[in-house]
Amino acid sequence: MSYLDVRHATSVIAEIAAPSGGRVALHEPQFSGAEWGYVKECLDTGWVSSVGSFVDRFESDLAAACGVKRAVVVVNGTAALQIALLLAGVRRGDEVLTPALTFVATPNAIAHCGAIPHFVDSSWDTLGLDPKGLSDWLDRIAEPHADGPRNRITGRRLAAVVPMHTFGHPVDMPGLLKVADRWELPVVEDAAESIGSLQDGRPLGGRGLIGATSFNGNKIITTGGGGALLTNDDTLAHRAKHLTTTAKAPHRWAFSHDEIAFNYRMPNINAALGCAQLEKLPTFVRAKRALARRYSAALADLAGLRFFAEPDGAESNYWLNAVILDDPAQRDEFLTATNDAGIMTRPCWTLMCDLPMYRECPQMDLPVARAIEARLVNIPSSPILGMAGKM
Ligand SMILES: *Cc1c(COP(=O)(O)O)cnc(C)c1O
Repeated sequence: MSYLDVRHATSVIAEIAAPSGGRVALHEPQFSGAEWGYVKECLDTGWVSSVGSFVDRFESDLAAACGVKRAVVVVNGTAALQIALLLAGVRRGDEVLTPALTFVATPNAIAHCGAIPHFVDSSWDTLGLDPKGLSDWLDRIAEPHADGPRNRITGRRLAAVVPMHTFGHPVDMPGLLKVADRWELPVVEDAAESIGSLQDGRPLGGRGLIGATSFNGNKIITTGGGGALLTNDDTLAHRAKHLTTTAKAPHRWAFSHDEIAFNYRMPNINAALGCAQLEKLPTFVRAKRALARRYSAALADLAGLRFFAEPDGAESNYWLNAVILDDPAQRDEFLTATNDAGIMTRPCWTLMCDLPMYRECPQMDLPVARAIEARLVNIPSSPILGMAGKM
């Protein structure tokens, strides 16, 4: 294990993230295109809310960008994930396999379905769910049943698996799909952080049965708040639209609703912002990959720390850049030095299995997730930092 010169590392990062001094955020949105025009159009026409043309347009543009047949936009990513899980057949009392190393929205969406998250370990190659570890774990604890595999320790049904593409780096989806197929587990992709990332040349979100993404203010593109379901299945897309829009039967005037449903529709004004942001996605991805290359080169010679690079076969969006410290004992010293210098850095999330509401949930041993949690730090990643004028 080598010793990290924290002051030197801070100045190397500052040279890239804040070359002219001042404070720099972890991730800021950028509005430099059609945002003003499209939002103004909503205001001018009065179509700001539940009806308007930007919703349809955002859905078709998004489906094209994500390489899926259909996208259904909703109020936020958590809501998208909740509906995706319901459509995958997750019911009250089921267990859903998901990494312990994720943002709290992932297990929250599982819990909103009345289901129980079952935490699995991560991979050092991808920072996401480790298919080999999952496969070994299922061999130990699962048994097949007519309605899907059961956890033989708890007796509960294992209803789905939810991989999450951490900081935009793709999970080994071919490996995971093999394990999921063998156990007949539907795959619900949490693609909240990976819009614009590619694996084997293809976008993420549409590999499993259904995917979910987020357009929160800190994501690569934003609608203020928002999310979407992604799928290649027309029937599922139709169900997603119905369930997220109060299950209203189309009619010129009658209020006829045919099941208990949700009001999760994305307002037109947010979709207008989304259309403009999506036009910039290729520019943002280029800028963020350029920023990652600069960090990678500048940090290559430093002892005690390494820049996390995209896995084989991936072209990541580098939503949040990350460094891995050799010695977890130096993490807080590094966080303090960088934040004191005005460079916003953050540790990884607390593992979900350590949060009070998820402490009792089933889990496998989590050695890799624990090591990542102890050693990973995110560094400034706004697209503007990678743009030509800033270099
Ligand atoms: C942002 C995010 C979500 C969704 O968050 P919302 O704030 O509800 O849009 C879900 N999962 C992960 C991993 C995320 O980073």
